[in-house]
Amino acid sequence: MKPKKKVVFATAILAILLCCLFLSGCGCDHEWETATCTTPSTCKKCGKTEGGLGEHSIKNSVCQICGKQFIDFFAIYKDCGCSSIWAEVSADYLSVDTNPYDISDLSLSMLWAEEALVAIKEINSKLGLPSYLYQEMVSTRAIDGRQTYTGPGRGVNVSWRFHPDSGLEVRYTK
Ligand SMILES: [Zn+2]
Ligand SMILES: [Zn+2]
Repeated sequence: MKPKKKVVFATAILAILLCCLFLSGCGCDHEWETATCTTPSTCKKCGKTEGGLGEHSIKNSVCQICGKQFIDFFAIYKDCGCSSIWAEVSADYLSVDTNPYDISDLSLSMLWAEEALVAIKEINSKLGLPSYLYQEMVSTRAIDGRQTYTGPGRGVNVSWRFHPDSGLEVRYTK
């Protein structure tokens, strides 16, 4: 055999060996752990991963694994006894208005207002907002203008305003 041919032959053998090794894998008898939303299915023994990420594990609108928020305004609307008279809902928006017909000088103790206020309290708690926020909302004066909340919560934006002629209007947005 000429030296050049020898090299070609050796390379071919090496290639075949590498192919065999590749096809037979690392020799691990994989033991797969279920994929989660942060890690794909992983072999307990060798750490090899397979496939994409798994499902989120959602409880009370929060993924228990990655902490991502899954706020369902429709569910909150329903669970908090909202009425289409004084509340509005969409996928990324929920609003409550204690004086939906803008009756002049309506007291917050009127029927809708009372229902709406109870709902606001419940929505706040469902969204993980602090209880003092409700107190702030109901003590807002007309001259305060639109107020916003930026403290801890489940990633929703909250804003509200109050005027005796238009009521307390609270908006929750994603
Ligand atoms: Zn393995
Ligand atoms: Zn998750």
